[in-house]
Amino acid sequence: MKKNLKSFDFENKRVLIRADLNVPMDEGVISNDVRIRKSVPTIKYILDRGGSCIIISHLGRPKGKYVPEMSLKPVAERLQELLGYDVNFIADEKVVSEEVKKSIGELRGQFVVLLENTRFNPEEEANGEEFSKELCELADIYVNDAFGTSHRAHASNVGVSHCLPSAIGLLVEKEVDYLHESVKRPKSPFVVILGGSKVSDKIGVLENLIDKADKIIIFGAMAYTFFKAKGYETGKSLVEEDKIDIAKKILKKAEENSVDIILPEDTVVVSEIKSGADYQTVDSKNIPADKMGVDIGDKSIGRIEQELKNARTVIWNGPAGVFEIEEFSKGTFSVAKMLSELKGAVTIVGGGDSASAVEKSGYEDKISHISTGGGASLEMLEGKELPGIACIEEA
Ligand code: AMP
Repeated sequence: MKKNLKSFDFENKRVLIRADLNVPMDEGVISNDVRIRKSVPTIKYILDRGGSCIIISHLGRPKGKYVPEMSLKPVAERLQELLGYDVNFIADEKVVSEEVKKSIGELRGQFVVLLENTRFNPEEEANGEEFSKELCELADIYVNDAFGTSHRAHASNVGVSHCLPSAIGLLVEKEVDYLHESVKRPKSPFVVILGGSKVSDKIGVLENLIDKADKIIIFGAMAYTFFKAKGYETGKSLVEEDKIDIAKKILKKAEENSVDIILPEDTVVVSEIKSGADYQTVDSKNIPADKMGVDIGDKSIGRIEQELKNARTVIWNGPAGVFEIEEFSKGTFSVAKMLSELKGAVTIVGGGDSASAVEKSGYEDKISHISTGGGASLEMLEGKELPGIACIEEA
């Protein structure tokens, strides 16, 4: 087990918190502040116990250069509102410098500081030792609370663990509890639902969970590669030709392991993916040659509802269709509703799109866990060790 916040006495300590404040921005305005909200509990925990917080995060992909539009300044303002505590934003283009060290060194009493976007520094993504050492000089303890970047080994999340005592924060602890612990010993029936555009992104998850799941539901564009593997006509639907053999192997392995792989019985098809396009629902075995699948049909929705009825553990990652277009979002939003209504089941949602479908529907509080990490949550479900968590001291 990794050290967590309970492992340290924070009284009068300066704590370097790697948070994931990488929020979507629309012309300088934060369009979704979920990641900032989810970072608040760890900061509050440390403040409540007499510690000070020096928060670091990346935002976007400035690629080692100062890009004013990717400054964390708007994030500092939002964090201050959510925290109800002064957030001192230190706008240094290099993130940390002699002046930054001096001004933080001169702070007295409790404080919260947010440094500039770590990816402005070219050493961040290269995991440069100098940069992590400079960050370490600012604090006494390091806390990783940035789950979304834990699958990357960067200076601000892995490098800093080499020069400070370390722990995981509350957010990372919850992610590990759900994505690792509940999947290691799932309560049965365990149903895995995978969707989205690519089989290739989720092969690792399928391979890892095929031994543990009772049922695997596959929808979204991923399903069409499986349809092809079963010899169905897929028309113009998105198919990964080079993954058909893998899909065949997964179907065979599922049969050997007595795991049900459930593919959509019916599919909503169009000639062109656009809002207002004419659509119809067809049998999934016979998608017309000039059409492409964009959502699951009502029969499939009904079947999924049946399959989920008695489930005790459910993991969902990836939309059922092109849910960004309202006409093709029914499958995705229906699944969000079904999960929110399950009684007595552990429900875990990962991946930006499925998470946003749950949030948009207002079911956020009815899901056991919504992951803040896309790539990181997939890697964890693949059974991989994430460098940002592996580097933290053992308790
Ligand atoms: P992913 O990033 O792999 O989870 O995929 C998410 C994307 O898959 C979303 O942008 C959806 O619009 C897209 N998607 C889901 N179903 C389909 C489909 N049937 N055809 C094309 N794209 C799809």
